Amino acid sequence: MDMVKFFHTNGGIGDASYSSNSGLQRMGIMKTKGVIEQAISDLCHTRSNVNFPETLMMADLGCSSGPNTLLVVSMVINAVANTCFEMGLKSPDIQINLNDLPANDFNTVFIALQELQQNPTNGQFMDVQDQPTCYFTRVPGSFFGRIFPTKSLHFVHSSYSLHWLSQVPELEEINKGNIHLSSTTPESVSRAYFKQFQTDFLGFLRCRSEEMMGGGRMVLTLAGRTTDDPRDEESYHLWRPLAMVLQDMVFESFRSNQSSGLGVQTNNAGSGQIVVKLHLD
Ligand code: SAH
Repeated sequence: MDMVKFFHTNGGIGDASYSSNSGLQRMGIMKTKGVIEQAISDLCHTRSNVNFPETLMMADLGCSSGPNTLLVVSMVINAVANTCFEMGLKSPDIQINLNDLPANDFNTVFIALQELQQNPTNGQFMDVQDQPTCYFTRVPGSFFGRIFPTKSLHFVHSSYSLHWLSQVPELEEINKGNIHLSSTTPESVSRAYFKQFQTDFLGFLRCRSEEMMGGGRMVLTLAGRTTDDPRDEESYHLWRPLAMVLQDMVFESFRSNQSSGLGVQTNNAGSGQIVVKLHLD
């Protein structure tokens, strides 16, 4: 499956949309507020001796279609305005680049953005007097490749997106009965996913190192775990019920074909929505 072409979270604002089902991620983003503010403050102070930028370029990578990206954007705008106020400097214009894969529902984000800009008091979009002028662009493409010009970005943000791998890794064995790394996952499968993550993350950092300006800052939030073993119960308890439902569905449809087992692979190194590839043997 061509991930770049087809993969996306559920668009719109309905019950099954990412917009309506991303509260957990939103809470995580709220916890990074202080980190974002510090990063913006450091960025502004680093550049205060050199030419302070007239336009600050930021990007939210893997923005999806929900309100979370607007929360991030509002945090950055407020942080820039407050830092500039403290430093006695005029706020720069801010160009905000919203990136995701091409099939993402960018329209929902931009419609919500339009509504907020027309009526900022509707949400906590901007809470500062001297609001920087902001320009928004959509940047469809995979963040595992180059998506911005050389040395063009001051600030990069990405939350809950980098655990998505660029592809399902080549597997020597099937992760039978699982849609996640579990206690029954063969060692070779666990290793293959780890290697794929390393390759992808390295590629991501390489591209950003070319796209970011000197003194630029990056805040990345990834799904993680507290144990060393990726096959530990803690990492997959959310996935087990889903795996069971999928198995039941597949057994139901293939019973007449006398299928004897099911292996499901995902391209997700952590948790979230999944792309499944079924093996019947
Ligand atoms: N940042 C948002 C959305 C996270 S959902 C939040 O914190 O709530 C993960 C998003 O990453 C999805 O919209 C998915 O399409 C996007 N994504 C996954 N792989 C990507 C890639 N290689 N390049 C760009 N976006 C990607």
